[in-house]
Amino acid sequence: MTLKASLFNGLKEKQVPCRTRGCTNTWIWDGADQLRWMRTGKTDPPLRMCPECYEKYNVLEDVLVPCANDTCQNTWTWTRAARVAALKRGRTEPPHDRLCTDCRDKAKGIEGMVVPCRVRRCEDTWFWSAEERIAADGGDGTAKPPARMCETCFKRFRDSKDKEMPCRVPGCDGTWTWSRGMQIESAARGFSDPPSRMCEACAAVLQTVTEQSLPCRVRGCDKTWVWTKFMQVEAARFSDGTPPQRMCETCFSQFHHLTDKEIKCRVPGCNERWRWTRIMQLESLVRGRTDPPRRLCATCSSDISKYEKKEVPCKHQGCDKTWSWSPEAQLAADRRGWSTPPKDRMCDSCKRFLETAETQVLKCAGCGTAVNWPKDHQLKVALGAWDKPTLCSDCRRDGKETSVESSIGAD
Ligand SMILES: [Zn+2]
Ligand SMILES: [Zn+2]
Ligand SMILES: [Zn+2]
Ligand SMILES: [Zn+2]
Ligand SMILES: [Zn+2]
Ligand SMILES: [Zn+2]
Ligand SMILES: [Zn+2]
Ligand SMILES: [Zn+2]
Repeated sequence: MTLKASLFNGLKEKQVPCRTRGCTNTWIWDGADQLRWMRTGKTDPPLRMCPECYEKYNVLEDVLVPCANDTCQNTWTWTRAARVAALKRGRTEPPHDRLCTDCRDKAKGIEGMVVPCRVRRCEDTWFWSAEERIAADGGDGTAKPPARMCETCFKRFRDSKDKEMPCRVPGCDGTWTWSRGMQIESAARGFSDPPSRMCEACAAVLQTVTEQSLPCRVRGCDKTWVWTKFMQVEAARFSDGTPPQRMCETCFSQFHHLTDKEIKCRVPGCNERWRWTRIMQLESLVRGRTDPPRRLCATCSSDISKYEKKEVPCKHQGCDKTWSWSPEAQLAADRRGWSTPPKDRMCDSCKRFLETAETQVLKCAGCGTAVNWPKDHQLKVALGAWDKPTLCSDCRRDGKETSVESSIGAD
């Protein structure tokens, strides 16, 4: 057996991949052909089409396509082989970005351009090739680069989808669309979390509101708090739209340092307490007061309505006026277990008399000594209970006068 024969017999059929780009079929390379091929000194298998591609190839023709450079009249040849490959990818139209040979040569003479990524805040770039620039403006440098993404952004864009995100307004089950474009913008800034946004309905309300300064809920405080647009959206969407009662910032911070206090009832003899709430304390504070007001406890507040004002005769003998026994004073008397009005009650006119009168100095009709005539004695005389005195107590004791009441006080 010759060497040739043994080689011939030893070569088996081979499955060789189709030369068409994108085609995964094979063609069969028989032994005899392999031998012939090797004899020419080649080691790699030949570039051939699979039967399917070849069949198409045979019926297609080369096509002349206009140069992608609009200012150029030339064409380039879309070959049958290229058309087969295009068909394999489902394309029947020639690519529109291809240049003629002249223009491709021209492109070798100019530079490509580094262009910023179109995604806002992305600092990356993409490369605008010389050939693309020729296609855009024929090489005269007048065309602006198109808006394109850098490779990273483009991959993110390709791999992401629009997402429905929940509305940021608490209680709203609306959603907003986190678009792919927004997602890659966030990613370019290094954020992966979605921003917080409102749904369309909430956002529409937001357009109609303006920030408002509203009075602090603490009575007497003249400061304000800010009813933000966001809070107004919440109110408009999920309640009747009226603003809540809030404290200003100052009151709010003080509020947290306060605690409710139990304060003794103002009625003497009552041992119950009332609650001085934090809000009430704030109301005092804004008026500059730190002490609790004097109040009735709950029991006294309700009991006091059982009393009526009573007119009680003035304690001064000879006075026909009365003193008003207030419901609260009656209540206090009851709390202490007293049943009678106080002994020192005095009508207004007696009270005024004692407030305005002054101790007078009289001269004794007996001995001529100057003696003091006190205010309460003057009142008794004014009321007609006593006579105005004329003698000092010594002369009176000596029998010059008989009435005890009419002696001039020694004080
Ligand atoms: Zn093929
Ligand atoms: Zn051209
Ligand atoms: Zn980018
Ligand atoms: Zn919403
Ligand atoms: Zn306030
Ligand atoms: Zn009380
Ligand atoms: Zn009186
Ligand atoms: Zn005298």
